[in-house]
Amino acid sequence: MTLVHRPVLPSVSPGYLHKLIPEELPEKAEDWKCIMKDIERVIMPGMTHWQSPNFHAFYPAPTSYPSIIGEMISAAFGTVGFSWICSPACTELEVIMMDWLGRFLGLPETFLRSSGGTGGGVIQGAASEAILIAVLTAREQKVQKLMRKYPELTESEIRGKLVAYSSDQSNSAIEKAGILAAVPMRLIPADKDNQLTGQLLQSAIDEDLLNGKFPVICIATFGTTGTCSFDKVHEIGPICNENDIWLHIDAAYAGAALCCPEYRPLMTGIEWANSFNFNLHKWMMVNFDCCAMWFKNSHAVIDAFTVNRIYLDHKHQGASDRAPDYRHWTINLGRRFRSIKVWIVLRTLGAEKLRAHIRGQTGLAEMFENMVRSDERFEIVCKRTLGLVCFRLKGECSLTKTLLDQITARKQLFMIHATFDDKLMIRFVICGHNPNEKDMLFAWNEVKTQADILFSVKE
Ligand code: PLP
Repeated sequence: MTLVHRPVLPSVSPGYLHKLIPEELPEKAEDWKCIMKDIERVIMPGMTHWQSPNFHAFYPAPTSYPSIIGEMISAAFGTVGFSWICSPACTELEVIMMDWLGRFLGLPETFLRSSGGTGGGVIQGAASEAILIAVLTAREQKVQKLMRKYPELTESEIRGKLVAYSSDQSNSAIEKAGILAAVPMRLIPADKDNQLTGQLLQSAIDEDLLNGKFPVICIATFGTTGTCSFDKVHEIGPICNENDIWLHIDAAYAGAALCCPEYRPLMTGIEWANSFNFNLHKWMMVNFDCCAMWFKNSHAVIDAFTVNRIYLDHKHQGASDRAPDYRHWTINLGRRFRSIKVWIVLRTLGAEKLRAHIRGQTGLAEMFENMVRSDERFEIVCKRTLGLVCFRLKGECSLTKTLLDQITARKQLFMIHATFDDKLMIRFVICGHNPNEKDMLFAWNEVKTQADILFSVKE
């Protein structure tokens, strides 16, 4: 059965797999055919199909054939590329890919290795890792500065006064980064358009400075998870700069759209950022996991996290910025050869097809939005941005909740809810590697039919 014909959501209950798999590994090697049969019998019933054309939840995570081939080649090499000597090709391809991508997105030259300055990029596993690394780097840099500035304070007194900022619309990964880094993350309530503004940030900073706190970092978002809103970085940036606060921009989903010049105005102010991340595994045809991250000053991360051991030494370390030891830039020591799948995807699709992918999906979102608008029982909750449509049934939130519960129970379509302006709404995201108009019609028909049933029951 092909993916299109499988329900997007599974019908199993928690613990289902325990009944299908023996308690212990087999003593004797098993037959390959039997193992493959079990993929269908054991695994498939428990799959939520992220690659289904009927998956419209969270944000996209499409895979693609070139990316799958890249993963296979990487797995075949089995490289653990933590320093240049561990596989020069693994390190150097990553440096070059990050510059390719940076130029493709139109990032300021200062982020690029090829600028000859301190800028540079790295591939992290996920946006969460990139954000955590940004928080930790900013924290360590700040603590060093404050220890020099306030010799009368102990290091733990300084660490106890640190504070970080983001908006209450930022992804859960940001609050978690604050917990992991032991830096309280102040989630500033966003404005009526779900944006963090300069004024809101400034008030929070003023209050904290009055209370003797030391602001460390602000994490702004381009494309929030709930409604795809964009923080006003052109306002936030100068404030961070003035207060010596590290500015990180999380553009996990929306960042890929920078490859289309027409979307760049959404991300005005990017030049103020100290670091920036976007997920190739969300909207750039590279399968999970693959998050691109850039620093304006990559020496900051190296200074913060360099830990040496004799077994990690090699003769060329530090020899060239084009051959970094990426182990200093990441949480793990061991690193996968992810740049190979990036290289293969970028070459087999080319810039043109990648831009067409973003534009095509945005066009489909517009088509779905228009279908929602054509039915007067529904309303579009907030301005559609890129591939996310936020809609609801007019009236009580319970109506929208029942509609979504009904749709989810049928397992033909997977969407999730969020809130905007205290209203419950449904998020419909264009996902998959090759969605088309038929998929939009299928989705809208499912939504409309379930709304018909809901209203007929109520009457
Ligand atoms: N930031 C934003 C805006 C997101 O939408 C997401 C996930 O959807 C994340 C961060 C977390 O991404 P990851 O799973 O790569 O850590």
